[in-house]
Amino acid sequence: MIDINGLMRENIRNLEPYSSARDEYSGKAGIFLDANENSFGSVPNGEYNRYPDPGQKKVKNRISEIKGVDAGRVFIGNGSDEAIDLLIRVFCRPGHDSILIMPPTYGMYKVAARVNDAGVIEVPLTADFDIDTGAVLDKHAKLAFVCSPNNPTGNAMSSDRISALLRGFNGLVVVDEAYIDFTEKPGWLSRLDKYNNLVVLQTFSKAWGLAGIRVGMAFGDPVVIAAMNRIKYPYNVNAISQSMVLKAMDKVDVKNLVVKQILAQKRVLRTGLEALPFVEKIFPSDANFLLARVRDATGVYRYLMDNGIIVRNRSNIAGCKECLRFTVGTPAQNKAMLETLKRFGDRL
Ligand SMILES: *Cc1c(COP(=O)(O)O)cnc(C)c1O
Repeated sequence: MIDINGLMRENIRNLEPYSSARDEYSGKAGIFLDANENSFGSVPNGEYNRYPDPGQKKVKNRISEIKGVDAGRVFIGNGSDEAIDLLIRVFCRPGHDSILIMPPTYGMYKVAARVNDAGVIEVPLTADFDIDTGAVLDKHAKLAFVCSPNNPTGNAMSSDRISALLRGFNGLVVVDEAYIDFTEKPGWLSRLDKYNNLVVLQTFSKAWGLAGIRVGMAFGDPVVIAAMNRIKYPYNVNAISQSMVLKAMDKVDVKNLVVKQILAQKRVLRTGLEALPFVEKIFPSDANFLLARVRDATGVYRYLMDNGIIVRNRSNIAGCKECLRFTVGTPAQNKAMLETLKRFGDRL
Protein backbone atom coordinates (compact mmCIF):
# COMPACT_ATOMS: atom_id res chain seq x y z
CA MET A 1 0.00 0.00 0.00
CA ILE A 2 1.32 3.44 -0.82
CA ASP A 3 0.35 6.72 0.85
CA ILE A 4 -1.71 8.33 -1.91
CA ASN A 5 -2.52 11.45 0.03
CA GLY A 6 1.18 11.90 0.74
CA LEU A 7 1.96 11.74 -2.99
CA MET A 8 -0.78 14.22 -3.88
CA ARG A 9 -0.19 17.97 -4.30
CA GLU A 10 -1.26 19.62 -1.06
CA ASN A 11 -3.42 22.28 -2.74
CA ILE A 12 -5.38 19.54 -4.54
CA ARG A 13 -5.74 17.42 -1.40
CA ASN A 14 -7.52 20.32 0.29
CA LEU A 15 -9.39 21.74 -2.71
CA GLU A 16 -13.08 22.62 -2.44
CA PRO A 17 -14.60 21.85 -5.85
CA TYR A 18 -17.10 24.05 -7.70
CA SER A 19 -20.58 23.20 -6.57
CA SER A 20 -23.75 23.95 -8.51
CA ALA A 21 -27.21 24.38 -7.01
CA ARG A 22 -28.17 21.08 -8.61
CA ASP A 23 -25.41 19.25 -6.74
CA GLU A 24 -27.16 20.34 -3.58
CA TYR A 25 -30.62 19.19 -4.74
CA SER A 26 -31.45 15.50 -4.94
CA GLY A 27 -35.26 15.58 -5.32
CA LYS A 28 -37.11 14.87 -8.56
CA ALA A 29 -38.82 16.82 -11.35
CA GLY A 30 -38.52 20.30 -9.93
CA ILE A 31 -38.69 23.62 -11.74
CA PHE A 32 -35.10 24.46 -12.60
CA LEU A 33 -34.46 28.20 -12.49
CA ASP A 34 -31.01 27.99 -10.90
CA ALA A 35 -28.47 27.86 -13.72
CA ASN A 36 -29.46 30.60 -16.17
CA GLU A 37 -30.16 28.05 -18.90
CA ASN A 38 -32.70 28.71 -21.63
CA SER A 39 -35.93 27.42 -20.08
CA PHE A 40 -37.70 27.50 -23.48
CA GLY A 41 -35.50 24.83 -25.05
CA SER A 42 -32.71 24.52 -27.64
CA VAL A 43 -32.53 26.38 -30.95
CA PRO A 44 -31.82 23.24 -33.02
CA ASN A 45 -33.95 20.11 -32.57
CA GLY A 46 -33.24 18.14 -29.42
CA GLU A 47 -33.29 18.90 -25.73
CA TYR A 48 -29.86 20.21 -24.93
CA ASN A 49 -30.82 23.31 -22.97
CA ARG A 50 -29.85 21.78 -19.61
CA TYR A 51 -26.32 21.39 -18.31
CA PRO A 52 -25.27 17.72 -18.28
CA ASP A 53 -24.86 15.70 -15.06
CA PRO A 54 -21.42 16.73 -13.75
CA GLY A 55 -21.23 13.49 -11.74
CA GLN A 56 -22.11 11.39 -14.83
CA LYS A 57 -24.00 9.02 -12.54
CA LYS A 58 -25.87 7.00 -15.18
CA VAL A 59 -22.74 6.51 -17.25
CA LYS A 60 -20.65 5.55 -14.24
CA ASN A 61 -23.23 3.06 -12.99
CA ARG A 62 -23.43 1.40 -16.40
CA ILE A 63 -19.64 1.27 -16.75
CA SER A 64 -19.49 -0.14 -13.25
CA GLU A 65 -21.88 -2.96 -14.27
CA ILE A 66 -20.11 -3.77 -17.51
CA LYS A 67 -16.59 -3.68 -16.09
CA GLY A 68 -17.34 -5.05 -12.62
CA VAL A 69 -15.68 -2.09 -10.89
CA ASP A 70 -17.30 0.01 -8.11
CA ALA A 71 -18.69 3.32 -9.41
CA GLY A 72 -16.52 5.11 -6.82
CA ARG A 73 -13.48 3.84 -8.68
CA VAL A 74 -14.60 5.27 -12.04
CA PHE A 75 -13.60 8.63 -13.56
CA ILE A 76 -15.07 9.75 -16.88
CA GLY A 77 -13.19 12.28 -18.96
CA ASN A 78 -13.19 14.19 -22.21
CA GLY A 79 -11.14 11.38 -23.74
CA SER A 80 -8.50 9.51 -21.77
CA ASP A 81 -6.26 12.42 -22.69
CA GLU A 82 -8.12 14.42 -20.04
CA ALA A 83 -7.45 11.69 -17.47
CA ILE A 84 -3.72 11.78 -18.32
CA ASP A 85 -3.64 15.56 -17.86
CA LEU A 86 -5.60 15.45 -14.59
CA LEU A 87 -3.45 12.69 -13.09
CA ILE A 88 -0.38 14.84 -13.71
CA ARG A 89 -2.10 17.87 -12.22
CA VAL A 90 -3.22 15.94 -9.12
CA PHE A 91 0.24 14.58 -8.32
CA CYS A 92 2.99 16.67 -9.93
CA ARG A 93 3.95 20.05 -8.50
CA PRO A 94 4.90 22.22 -11.50
CA GLY A 95 8.64 22.67 -11.65
CA HIS A 96 9.27 19.99 -9.00
CA ASP A 97 7.88 16.54 -9.75
CA SER A 98 8.23 14.14 -12.64
CA ILE A 99 6.47 11.41 -14.54
CA LEU A 100 8.21 8.36 -15.97
CA ILE A 101 7.57 7.11 -19.50
CA MET A 102 8.93 4.17 -21.49
CA PRO A 103 9.58 5.16 -25.09
CA PRO A 104 8.69 4.36 -27.78
CA THR A 105 5.21 5.04 -26.43
CA TYR A 106 2.13 7.24 -26.71
CA GLY A 107 3.11 10.88 -27.21
CA MET A 108 0.49 12.51 -25.00
CA TYR A 109 2.14 11.58 -21.69
CA LYS A 110 5.14 13.78 -22.45
CA VAL A 111 3.06 16.61 -23.92
CA ALA A 112 0.73 16.68 -20.89
CA ALA A 113 3.73 16.66 -18.54
CA ARG A 114 5.41 19.52 -20.42
CA VAL A 115 2.22 21.60 -20.37
CA ASN A 116 2.10 21.16 -16.59
CA ASP A 117 5.83 21.84 -16.21
CA ALA A 118 6.38 18.34 -14.81
CA GLY A 119 9.67 16.57 -15.50
CA VAL A 120 9.79 13.59 -17.87
CA ILE A 121 12.07 10.67 -17.00
CA GLU A 122 12.53 8.34 -19.95
CA VAL A 123 13.39 4.67 -19.45
CA PRO A 124 13.36 3.10 -22.94
CA LEU A 125 11.65 -0.24 -23.48
CA THR A 126 13.97 -3.20 -24.03
CA ALA A 127 14.89 -4.36 -27.56
CA ASP A 128 11.77 -6.55 -27.65
CA PHE A 129 9.64 -3.60 -26.47
CA ASP A 130 9.07 -4.80 -22.90
CA ILE A 131 9.55 -2.98 -19.58
CA ASP A 132 13.12 -2.55 -18.32
CA THR A 133 11.98 -3.30 -14.77
CA GLY A 134 15.28 -2.78 -12.98
CA ALA A 135 15.89 0.59 -14.63
CA VAL A 136 12.35 1.81 -13.83
CA LEU A 137 12.56 0.73 -10.19
CA ASP A 138 15.80 2.73 -9.83
CA LYS A 139 13.96 5.98 -10.60
CA HIS A 140 11.75 8.28 -8.56
CA ALA A 141 8.60 9.75 -10.11
CA LYS A 142 5.05 10.47 -9.06
CA LEU A 143 3.56 8.51 -11.96
CA ALA A 144 4.87 5.80 -14.27
CA PHE A 145 2.91 5.44 -17.53
CA VAL A 146 2.77 1.90 -18.89
CA CYS A 147 0.99 1.63 -22.22
CA SER A 148 -0.21 -1.95 -22.67
CA PRO A 149 -0.90 -2.87 -25.43
CA ASN A 150 1.62 -0.20 -26.38
CA ASN A 151 1.22 2.45 -29.04
CA PRO A 152 3.08 2.50 -31.45
CA THR A 153 4.71 -0.93 -31.02
CA GLY A 154 1.45 -2.89 -30.63
CA ASN A 155 2.55 -5.43 -28.00
CA ALA A 156 1.22 -5.89 -24.48
CA MET A 157 3.82 -5.66 -21.71
CA SER A 158 4.52 -8.84 -19.78
CA SER A 159 2.27 -9.01 -16.74
CA ASP A 160 5.11 -10.14 -14.44
CA ARG A 161 6.91 -6.89 -15.14
CA ILE A 162 3.82 -4.75 -14.57
CA SER A 163 3.31 -6.62 -11.27
CA ALA A 164 6.90 -5.90 -10.33
CA LEU A 165 6.28 -2.17 -10.86
CA LEU A 166 3.07 -2.30 -8.84
CA ARG A 167 4.92 -3.94 -5.96
CA GLY A 168 8.12 -1.92 -6.13
CA PHE A 169 7.61 1.49 -7.74
CA ASN A 170 7.50 4.49 -5.42
CA GLY A 171 4.64 6.26 -7.23
CA LEU A 172 1.43 5.45 -9.07
CA VAL A 173 1.52 3.01 -11.99
CA VAL A 174 -0.85 4.10 -14.76
CA VAL A 175 -1.65 1.26 -17.16
CA ASP A 176 -3.10 2.68 -20.39
CA GLU A 177 -5.38 0.01 -21.86
CA ALA A 178 -6.73 1.94 -24.85
CA TYR A 179 -6.34 -1.22 -26.98
CA ILE A 180 -7.35 -3.84 -24.41
CA ASP A 181 -10.41 -4.97 -26.42
CA PHE A 182 -8.15 -6.24 -29.20
CA THR A 183 -6.26 -8.78 -27.11
CA GLU A 184 -7.18 -11.96 -25.25
CA LYS A 185 -4.59 -11.10 -22.63
CA PRO A 186 -6.17 -10.05 -19.33
CA GLY A 187 -6.25 -6.38 -18.37
CA TRP A 188 -5.66 -4.96 -14.90
CA LEU A 189 -9.12 -3.89 -13.74
CA SER A 190 -9.45 -7.03 -11.61
CA ARG A 191 -6.29 -6.09 -9.70
CA LEU A 192 -7.51 -2.66 -8.52
CA ASP A 193 -8.46 -4.04 -5.10
CA LYS A 194 -5.00 -5.47 -4.62
CA TYR A 195 -2.89 -2.43 -5.57
CA ASN A 196 -3.91 1.03 -4.41
CA ASN A 197 -1.18 2.55 -6.63
CA LEU A 198 -2.75 1.14 -9.81
CA VAL A 199 -4.68 3.37 -12.23
CA VAL A 200 -6.12 1.86 -15.42
CA LEU A 201 -7.08 4.00 -18.43
CA GLN A 202 -9.56 2.86 -21.06
CA THR A 203 -11.41 4.69 -23.82
CA PHE A 204 -14.45 4.68 -26.08
CA SER A 205 -12.25 5.93 -28.94
CA LYS A 206 -10.96 2.65 -30.34
CA ALA A 207 -12.96 -0.61 -30.14
CA TRP A 208 -16.23 1.23 -29.48
CA GLY A 209 -15.75 3.42 -32.56
CA LEU A 210 -16.53 6.67 -30.73
CA ALA A 211 -13.35 8.73 -31.10
CA GLY A 212 -15.47 11.66 -32.27
CA ILE A 213 -17.42 12.09 -29.04
CA ARG A 214 -14.39 12.12 -26.68
CA VAL A 215 -15.10 9.85 -23.75
CA GLY A 216 -12.36 8.13 -21.78
CA MET A 217 -12.24 6.36 -18.44
CA ALA A 218 -9.85 6.07 -15.53
CA PHE A 219 -10.19 3.43 -12.83
CA GLY A 220 -8.33 3.55 -9.57
CA ASP A 221 -8.32 3.94 -5.83
CA PRO A 222 -11.33 6.02 -4.68
CA VAL A 223 -8.94 8.63 -3.23
CA VAL A 224 -7.29 9.14 -6.65
CA ILE A 225 -10.63 9.18 -8.47
CA ALA A 226 -12.14 11.67 -5.98
CA ALA A 227 -9.18 14.01 -6.51
CA MET A 228 -9.59 13.84 -10.30
CA ASN A 229 -13.28 14.61 -9.91
CA ARG A 230 -12.50 17.59 -7.68
CA ILE A 231 -10.31 19.30 -10.24
CA LYS A 232 -12.05 18.46 -13.53
CA TYR A 233 -14.23 21.01 -15.28
CA PRO A 234 -17.70 20.39 -13.82
CA TYR A 235 -19.28 19.66 -17.21
CA ASN A 236 -16.30 17.93 -18.83
CA VAL A 237 -18.41 15.31 -20.63
CA ASN A 238 -21.27 16.84 -22.59
CA ALA A 239 -24.86 15.58 -22.74
CA ILE A 240 -24.60 14.19 -26.28
CA SER A 241 -21.50 12.18 -25.39
CA GLN A 242 -23.04 10.86 -22.18
CA SER A 243 -26.19 9.66 -23.96
CA MET A 244 -24.15 8.17 -26.82
CA VAL A 245 -21.94 6.02 -24.58
CA LEU A 246 -25.03 4.84 -22.71
CA LYS A 247 -26.49 3.69 -26.05
CA ALA A 248 -23.20 2.07 -26.99
CA MET A 249 -23.05 0.08 -23.77
CA ASP A 250 -26.39 -1.53 -24.65
CA LYS A 251 -24.61 -2.97 -27.70
CA VAL A 252 -21.62 -4.77 -26.26
CA ASP A 253 -22.31 -7.62 -28.69
CA VAL A 254 -21.98 -5.26 -31.66
CA LYS A 255 -18.66 -4.00 -30.29
CA ASN A 256 -17.43 -7.56 -29.86
CA LEU A 257 -18.47 -8.47 -33.41
CA VAL A 258 -16.66 -5.46 -34.90
CA VAL A 259 -13.55 -6.33 -32.87
CA LYS A 260 -13.66 -9.82 -34.42
CA GLN A 261 -13.87 -8.33 -37.90
CA ILE A 262 -10.97 -5.99 -37.18
CA LEU A 263 -8.87 -8.89 -35.91
CA ALA A 264 -9.69 -10.92 -39.04
CA GLN A 265 -8.60 -7.96 -41.18
CA LYS A 266 -5.44 -7.63 -39.10
CA ARG A 267 -4.49 -11.14 -40.27
CA VAL A 268 -5.23 -10.15 -43.89
CA LEU A 269 -3.10 -7.04 -43.50
CA ARG A 270 -0.23 -8.97 -41.90
CA THR A 271 -0.23 -11.58 -44.67
CA GLY A 272 -0.32 -8.88 -47.34
CA LEU A 273 2.52 -6.90 -45.77
CA GLU A 274 4.63 -10.03 -45.30
CA ALA A 275 4.47 -10.69 -49.03
CA LEU A 276 6.04 -7.32 -49.89
CA PRO A 277 9.78 -7.50 -50.64
CA PHE A 278 10.60 -4.19 -48.94
CA VAL A 279 8.89 -5.10 -45.65
CA GLU A 280 11.61 -6.34 -43.29
CA LYS A 281 9.76 -7.06 -40.08
CA ILE A 282 6.24 -6.92 -38.70
CA PHE A 283 6.14 -6.69 -34.93
CA PRO A 284 3.78 -8.75 -32.75
CA SER A 285 0.54 -6.85 -32.14
CA ASP A 286 -2.14 -7.05 -29.46
CA ALA A 287 -3.84 -3.95 -30.89
CA ASN A 288 -5.78 -2.79 -33.97
CA PHE A 289 -2.65 -1.78 -35.85
CA LEU A 290 0.63 -3.25 -37.06
CA LEU A 291 4.07 -1.72 -36.74
CA ALA A 292 6.34 -2.73 -39.60
CA ARG A 293 9.97 -2.00 -40.39
CA VAL A 294 10.42 -1.33 -44.08
CA ARG A 295 13.19 -0.30 -46.42
CA ASP A 296 12.91 3.49 -46.93
CA ALA A 297 9.99 4.17 -44.57
CA THR A 298 9.70 7.80 -45.57
CA GLY A 299 9.65 6.87 -49.28
CA VAL A 300 6.85 4.36 -48.67
CA TYR A 301 5.01 6.86 -46.49
CA ARG A 302 5.20 9.55 -49.20
CA TYR A 303 4.12 7.18 -51.96
CA LEU A 304 1.06 6.17 -49.95
CA MET A 305 0.33 9.81 -49.21
CA ASP A 306 0.57 10.70 -52.92
CA ASN A 307 -2.06 8.02 -53.46
CA GLY A 308 -4.38 9.41 -50.82
CA ILE A 309 -3.53 6.86 -48.13
CA ILE A 310 -2.32 8.12 -44.76
CA VAL A 311 -0.39 5.89 -42.36
CA ARG A 312 1.72 6.90 -39.39
CA ASN A 313 5.42 7.45 -40.03
CA ARG A 314 7.25 6.54 -36.82
CA SER A 315 10.68 6.25 -38.45
CA ASN A 316 12.05 9.30 -36.67
CA ILE A 317 11.33 8.17 -33.10
CA ALA A 318 13.85 6.26 -30.99
CA GLY A 319 13.43 2.49 -31.17
CA CYS A 320 11.28 2.65 -34.33
CA LYS A 321 13.83 3.36 -37.08
CA GLU A 322 12.30 2.87 -40.56
CA CYS A 323 8.96 1.89 -39.04
CA LEU A 324 5.46 2.66 -40.22
CA ARG A 325 2.32 2.07 -38.21
CA PHE A 326 -0.65 0.74 -40.15
CA THR A 327 -4.12 0.96 -38.60
CA VAL A 328 -6.28 -1.99 -39.65
CA GLY A 329 -8.89 -0.77 -42.13
CA THR A 330 -11.99 -2.22 -43.75
CA PRO A 331 -11.51 -5.01 -46.32
CA ALA A 332 -11.73 -2.45 -49.14
CA GLN A 333 -9.30 -0.04 -47.49
CA ASN A 334 -6.76 -2.76 -46.73
CA LYS A 335 -7.01 -4.11 -50.27
CA ALA A 336 -6.48 -0.66 -51.76
CA MET A 337 -3.49 0.01 -49.50
CA LEU A 338 -1.88 -3.37 -50.19
CA GLU A 339 -2.31 -2.89 -53.95
CA THR A 340 -0.70 0.55 -53.70
CA LEU A 341 2.18 -0.88 -51.66
CA LYS A 342 2.64 -3.61 -54.27
CA ARG A 343 2.90 -0.98 -57.01
CA PHE A 344 5.55 0.79 -54.90
CA GLY A 345 7.46 -2.51 -54.66
CA ASP A 346 7.25 -3.07 -58.41
CA ARG A 347 9.03 0.24 -59.05
CA LEU A 348 12.06 -0.68 -56.94
C1 LIG B 1 -5.84 6.30 -28.83
C2 LIG B 1 -5.20 6.24 -27.51
C3 LIG B 1 -5.84 6.74 -26.38
C4 LIG B 1 -7.21 7.31 -26.48
O1 LIG B 1 -7.26 8.62 -26.16
P1 LIG B 1 -8.69 9.34 -26.10
O2 LIG B 1 -8.33 10.68 -25.57
O3 LIG B 1 -9.54 8.53 -25.16
O4 LIG B 1 -9.24 9.36 -27.48
C5 LIG B 1 -5.23 6.63 -25.16
N1 LIG B 1 -4.03 6.05 -25.04
C6 LIG B 1 -3.40 5.54 -26.11
C7 LIG B 1 -2.10 4.86 -25.93
C8 LIG B 1 -3.95 5.63 -27.37
O5 LIG B 1 -3.29 5.15 -28.42
